[in-house]
Amino acid sequence: MALGKSVCVVCRQERDGVPVEDDPVIAAIRAVKTRLGIATGNRLVVCHEDLETARKKRARFERTLMWCAMLGAAFIFVILLSKQSLASLFIGLVVAAVVVSFALLAYFPKACGTGIAAVSAAPAGATHKRVRPPKR
Ligand SMILES: [Zn+2]
Repeated sequence: MALGKSVCVVCRQERDGVPVEDDPVIAAIRAVKTRLGIATGNRLVVCHEDLETARKKRARFERTLMWCAMLGAAFIFVILLSKQSLASLFIGLVVAAVVVSFALLAYFPKACGTGIAAVSAAPAGATHKRVRPPKR
């Protein structure tokens, strides 16, 4: 498949930028689109203007996913403590899956090199705070 244009996932414009990391969600979306024959073949990037926005959205998604996973696990735990049967375990798993899938509503892909590790690994004094032109 030939790669198409690079498109920013934040502003949806054709732009150059930092490529987005492949993850299971993106792979699944791509697989579905390829099967339906509507894959665009675009390269997903985050343009330099939107890096900060993308980082915040990604952080929000990761927090949401963590809370939903904990909620789901807690729910299964409570069900297992109260009713010890296969049926209730099954219901618990279904509810947990639904709770976790809510987190996917906030899904946002991760731009390469914008993770927490990348920031903390930056040498001291590195300019990860971008200097903005003064506002008028
Ligand atoms: Zn953009």
